Amino acid sequence: MHFVPENLPDRIRHYIDGEFVESVDGSTFDVLDPVSNTTYVQAASGKQADIDRAVAAAKRAFDDGPWPRMKNRERARILNRIADQVEARDAELAELETFDTGLPITQALGQAQRAAENFRFFADLIVAQRDDTYQVPGAQVNYVHRKPVGVAGLITPWNTPFMLESWKLAPALASGCTVALKPAEFTPLSASLWAGIFEEAGLPKGVFNLVNGLGEEAGDALVKHPDVRLISFTGETTTGQTIFTNAAPHLKGLSMELGGKSPAIVFADADLPAAIDSTLFGVFSLNGERCTAGSRILVERSIYDDFVSQYAERAKNIVVGDPHDPKTEVGALVHPEHYAKVMSYVELGKGEGRLVAGGGRPEGLETGNYVAPTVFADVKPDARIFQEEIFGPVVAITPFDTDDEALELANAVKYGLAAYLWTSDLKRAHTFAHGIEAGMVWLNSHNVRDLRTPFGGVKASGLGHEGGYRSLDFYTEQQAVHISLSPVHTPKFGASR
Ligand code: NAD
Repeated sequence: MHFVPENLPDRIRHYIDGEFVESVDGSTFDVLDPVSNTTYVQAASGKQADIDRAVAAAKRAFDDGPWPRMKNRERARILNRIADQVEARDAELAELETFDTGLPITQALGQAQRAAENFRFFADLIVAQRDDTYQVPGAQVNYVHRKPVGVAGLITPWNTPFMLESWKLAPALASGCTVALKPAEFTPLSASLWAGIFEEAGLPKGVFNLVNGLGEEAGDALVKHPDVRLISFTGETTTGQTIFTNAAPHLKGLSMELGGKSPAIVFADADLPAAIDSTLFGVFSLNGERCTAGSRILVERSIYDDFVSQYAERAKNIVVGDPHDPKTEVGALVHPEHYAKVMSYVELGKGEGRLVAGGGRPEGLETGNYVAPTVFADVKPDARIFQEEIFGPVVAITPFDTDDEALELANAVKYGLAAYLWTSDLKRAHTFAHGIEAGMVWLNSHNVRDLRTPFGGVKASGLGHEGGYRSLDFYTEQQAVHISLSPVHTPKFGASR
């Protein structure tokens, strides 16, 4: 039986200036669930006129409202109440998210809890925040006066919608910015819950605005709006490039979290059972729809055959099925269009590597966007399944002989988001990590992240790092104020005649 939550809305609307509203032109788009692939709701489809309304409300709230002027402690209290609300509603949130995205329910629950943690973390950070002063004894004191930038445009993808929205909303709001959020059109359901959560927590009207719609319409209008001072974007590299171009005439602040094709490198001296657990989880959790997925595994030749056979056995045993079943490890991919894309890579891979697990739709799951966890061995570095982001439960395994060769393979793609290294040699671990072109490296671990650390990619995986104070730096201006403590020598222009 296909699970359908009881509390589905009759319609998904925008939320502008404290009210749920339809699109100015009344248009809508279909939202499907990934198990039945049928339309379960219509969402308001935002265009330029809706973005104009949302940005005007955010600008009013910024120019005249209390939010940017509150003491950090007062803002932190509201952020903590938001975290409390998210925690109190985590089961409901996970249920809706699972229904809309196809993510396994246990993983969606973890994402909801992480969303709460993001708010709590930035509440703490702004209370503890200190800014620089520079003294020139007897002559000058200089200090940094930090202030929110203004209206922030937030554009998010569909893979973990609610959590990724919190990742932008929490630091933007903590900084005192007001926002217009444009969530991904495949998965607009959970975003509409923010409105109620924020109202309950006491966020002033107009500080948070939400416009649903297509990227080329609502997203595009947000990027090009002259009153939106910065854009925080997470999504595909090609979309990021388009946004860069469109933001250039306005010289907006940009933060770009883009795609990845991250390597997991397993040396012969690694703790093999731990490496197998971790590299399986690293690519098959979140249905493989994970920006930091370790989707290329490089394995030292002396353990290669053993690794491949153990890995393939485990991959075949992964529980694929109903996303709402707590036993499910891999659910349904988000949308039939994305399913078709992932399946086309599965077919391509059959000509580029040796298929050792999966390779298509799992038996017994005749409908819904299900893909059996798929493992290709002996994949060459020029293969498309080695080079391109698939964003599904598909992994490429490649052997290497030397450290130099492993590093060359690790860096042989255009992306540079994450890397995972498995070795018990301390010196190798660090020197190898330093040589990898990736924004984040994990040694003997999958992606477990302290919220204070920088997050972001290099090369085609992004520009600008967020995480901890770096997020606050993005959403604030650091104005330098210079004070003279003694007379300043000034050349006397025009005083010599
Ligand atoms: P996408 O680029 O298709 O869409 C992302 C968002 O951008 C959506 O809200 C979409 O409507 C909007 N958009 C599309 N075209 C636009 C335009 N011209 N102007 C403004 N907005 C536009 O990405 P997706 O398919 O939703 O998400 C998957 C991608 O996101 C993958 O590449 C994945 O690696 C990446 N991702 C990266 C991170 C990270 O932190 N680096 C995290 C999660 C996902």
